[in-house]
Amino acid sequence: MIFIKTILLLLAILFSVSSSSQEQSKEFTWPGGGKLAVSLSYDDALNSQLDNAIPELDKHNLKASFYITSNSSVMNARMAEWRAAAKNGHELGNHSIYHPCRASLPDRQWVPKHHDLDNYSVTQMIEELTTANTFLKAIDGKTERTYTVPCGDLLVGGEEYLSTVNNLFTAIKGHGADKRFSLIWDPSNSTGKQLIEYINNIPSDILLVNIIFHGVGGDYLSVTSEAHAELLTFLTNNRDSYHVDSYINLMKYADSMK
Ligand SMILES: [Zn+2]
Repeated sequence: MIFIKTILLLLAILFSVSSSSQEQSKEFTWPGGGKLAVSLSYDDALNSQLDNAIPELDKHNLKASFYITSNSSVMNARMAEWRAAAKNGHELGNHSIYHPCRASLPDRQWVPKHHDLDNYSVTQMIEELTTANTFLKAIDGKTERTYTVPCGDLLVGGEEYLSTVNNLFTAIKGHGADKRFSLIWDPSNSTGKQLIEYINNIPSDILLVNIIFHGVGGDYLSVTSEAHAELLTFLTNNRDSYHVDSYINLMKYADSMK
């Protein structure tokens, strides 16, 4: 009898071990098995992104997201190049038409009065973002895209507005119920070593990190082309650990795994 009990106990232990390893195998991983996804983003539709960032991304065969401000003169002047980037697998994300921000916050002297979010209404913002989606659809033919909030400002005329525009987007960068997908850093003047160190030090419970660039080797809030290239080389050399894709692809994959 004791012998049978021992056998049953052993079976119970074996069963619990195998079910806990099954639990572990259900842990979230990205395509290819990596634990951390890296979304490379480039905001504001700048010349240096077309001149320096996209050629380097393409050299490494990495796909990224470009958050387009529709009224950027670079959109008008270089439309064919943006269209080619989209055709090549990069995402053209929504970053509004006019990049409205709250002029009342510190260091916002650059915000013109007619683009001051404190003077906007939520309805106006919904219209602006809807029209920006239409503008981008005319370039890349796509009906789904993600959004990066201009200046990260969440209030329009004093009212929260993201909940009213959620339905326009597959995802809003850095906003969602699951905080494991929300880590954001917008480096400027960082060296390649600092960019790599940042990625190396992401806590292990984080599944996705968003690196938001502006200028690359030019324009403003810039990193040098060399620093940018160093990061891309590092990510390419460590493909087993880091899964790089456009933000929309990453978020659609994460949604499909729920
Ligand atoms: Zn911006």
